[in-house]
Amino acid sequence: MTIRTRFAPSPTGYLHVGGARTALFSWLYARKHGGKFVLRIEDTDLERSTEESVNAILEGMTWLGLEYDEGPFYQTHRFDRYKDVIAKLLSQGDAYCCYCSKDELDAMREQQRANKEKPRYDGRCRHLTTPRDGVQPVVRFKNPLEGSVIVKDVVKGDVEFQNSELDDLVIARPDGTPTYNLTVVVDDLDMGMTHVIRGDDHLNNSPRQINIFKALGAEPPVFAHLPMILGDDGARLSKRHGAVGVMSFRDDGFLPEALLNYLVRLGWSHGDQEIFTIDEMVQFFDIKNVNKSASSFNTDKLLWLNQQYIKTSSPEHIAHHLSWHMGSLGIDPTQGPELTKVVVLQQERAKTLVEMATNSVFFYKEITEFDDKAARKNLTIDSLVLLDDMQSRLSALSEWLAEPIHVQIKDCSVERGVGMGKVAQPIRVAITGNTMSPPLDLTLELLGRERTLAAITLAKKWVKDNVEAQA
Ligand code: GLU
Repeated sequence: MTIRTRFAPSPTGYLHVGGARTALFSWLYARKHGGKFVLRIEDTDLERSTEESVNAILEGMTWLGLEYDEGPFYQTHRFDRYKDVIAKLLSQGDAYCCYCSKDELDAMREQQRANKEKPRYDGRCRHLTTPRDGVQPVVRFKNPLEGSVIVKDVVKGDVEFQNSELDDLVIARPDGTPTYNLTVVVDDLDMGMTHVIRGDDHLNNSPRQINIFKALGAEPPVFAHLPMILGDDGARLSKRHGAVGVMSFRDDGFLPEALLNYLVRLGWSHGDQEIFTIDEMVQFFDIKNVNKSASSFNTDKLLWLNQQYIKTSSPEHIAHHLSWHMGSLGIDPTQGPELTKVVVLQQERAKTLVEMATNSVFFYKEITEFDDKAARKNLTIDSLVLLDDMQSRLSALSEWLAEPIHVQIKDCSVERGVGMGKVAQPIRVAITGNTMSPPLDLTLELLGRERTLAAITLAKKWVKDNVEAQA
């Protein structure tokens, strides 16, 4: 049997981390078993579904690298098929038209509450033989009245539901459009799903869906309901906890594989291994090892993982993602040193790509303003003579390489009787505008002679304008 899984988001917002984890687990399960992974867009709620959300979902899947083998299939393209199935259920007596008005339903529930019963549709239209004039009915599924349904869930174990607890759910609205529980069954059936992996907010839908599968003469798929993701305060993860849309993690400087690695560990483990390559995830992933209980989102751990990935990924790979961030800072990374070389210098020093991009701007754009505190501390009258000296030493260098640059910094410090930091720091401020950079000799080599000398000239001017003039 070929394993077939799907990710079936409703396009009513961005791709949330909860959805991304569901997609990842479904993808991993298919990949592990040499199966197929299908993307289905559940867009039948015409009022809430938007094209923008569809694009956000597709963008998120692409950024994460969760490639689908089939789809995206859109439910709105399948209305004829759902209509046929509804007609079939009606004709075989497994569904019926319900003419109850909202007022009638409200009164019914009111009465049930007064009798201390659970409010539910009481099936009063089940046996109607004649339509009510002028009322566009809904169609309800005739749920079995007795017995129970067992959801065989790979994560939760067997979960039993009494049919007496499940009322006759609406499968078509008055305008004939199908509802979620009907479309999902028809699609999972038509698309040959063997495993339905989804959030456990859908667990209560499963017995209803299983009953519809049975009415259609089909075997339901295997279910795996994933526990919720909570914020660090124990409440369900939401916008209020900060970034939850997948693309906002890209915007905040995370690598997609760091996020995937983080997500795979949310509710799943393999011994105490924390870092997994994608191949390892595929190899070790087992849906049976998914926790039953909810897991909490921990941004610090994600940051830690991101830093590990930044340190250990190939500079080419990082440069590929970094160039997007440089672009969003208005920097054209072709106007300066090769980005991979900048990455090599910055790899050990950044937790996020935003940090790396921000700290690398000076390689591509002349610094015209210095951080005030950094300048006041390091661009002093005393530094002027050191900057002058270094400027002539550097302009006289025959080879613009880190090693001879280093020798000049060292010689200058020895000859002037000051620490190397006293020589290096004013130059650092001159080129970066601040006090942080990778090792200065390597940084200057990459920045180039012309830009280094120009930066020193500007720094000297700053001292003259701001310090000497006031002395
Ligand atoms: N469209 C549903 C949702 O976004 C998921 C349905 C399913 O996986 O069965 O919550």
